[in-house]
Amino acid sequence: MADDKLKHMVFPRHVLVGTNAIDRLGAMVADLELDAPGVVVVDANTKKLVGPRVRAALEGAGLRPTFFESQGATMQSVSACVKAGRKAGAAWYVGAGGGSVIDVAKLAAFEHGPAWISAPTSASHDGICSGRASIKERTGSTSIEAKPPAAIVADTAIISKAPYRMLAAGCADVLSNLTAVLDYKLAHRLKAEEYSSFAAVLARTAAEQIMENTSLIRPGLEEASWLVVKSLVVSGVSMAVAGSSRPASGAEHLFGHAIDKLAPGPMHGETVGVGSILMMHLHGGDWQAIRDALKAIGAPTTAKELGVPSKKLVQALTTAHTIRPDRYTVLGESGLTKEAAEALAKATGVL
Ligand SMILES: [Zn+2]
Repeated sequence: MADDKLKHMVFPRHVLVGTNAIDRLGAMVADLELDAPGVVVVDANTKKLVGPRVRAALEGAGLRPTFFESQGATMQSVSACVKAGRKAGAAWYVGAGGGSVIDVAKLAAFEHGPAWISAPTSASHDGICSGRASIKERTGSTSIEAKPPAAIVADTAIISKAPYRMLAAGCADVLSNLTAVLDYKLAHRLKAEEYSSFAAVLARTAAEQIMENTSLIRPGLEEASWLVVKSLVVSGVSMAVAGSSRPASGAEHLFGHAIDKLAPGPMHGETVGVGSILMMHLHGGDWQAIRDALKAIGAPTTAKELGVPSKKLVQALTTAHTIRPDRYTVLGESGLTKEAAEALAKATGVL
């Protein structure tokens, strides 16, 4: 089919990372040549933290921001934000905050139409640089495909002041690419799914950057925020090249989503990090290296550290394959038996 030869990749036009980057947000948005009115999505915390600087930067560039205070990453919040955006005649959206604020801006822009700009105040997962959003529902969270940001403005001075646990979770999300790329290849081999070796190399390189520099990832060190943000950006680019989240989301993410449903509480990066140890064991790869890297950065490596009861962890392993049946992984179509799940969790020290 001729259509199969048509490939559309969407990348951010600006990626600005560094100290006080937030003060140049207006210049970045203005360079996208969009109309003046737009919506800045914040939450109660980030409104205080960066609100005045964001407003000054945007107004200084001749833009007219309307602030929308998100109450969490829910569809109600997204609808209310779109309503505010339509009323303001918004030509752009900025998400200035953590993952859930950015997800609201991302989905509101997707539903409404205009471009969105990512201005993360923490670096806890690769959603800050990707087209995929995670929305909370009564039964856990769902992942929705939207579009990648038109620009990313990541202020490392602000990000390094966020709780260290968030940065460690961001690292774990990047490390999980190591198993995601194996599932990506497996699905290509067994199911003839579209595969991009460029995307896989990018996703793996991002994870290797973290692996090789775990000694730099320490609380309060701006250098650590730099490294993590850059790796998250490369992860985001890998998904843009693939045209899907495949290179950064495999069985370890299915496991993470299963935990979200069964024992909500741990952060996204924390569950997929532990998932990556488990899935690497199933792939027959170097799972110890992933465990050691997670330990070195201070991310959880056991059910106990995640705060997940043993029974729920085993249940997450046996049900993970049902989370997204269209996503073929090392778990296969029928998943793990209870006995196999228990043996795997014990062999890797997760239980
Ligand atoms: Zn992730």
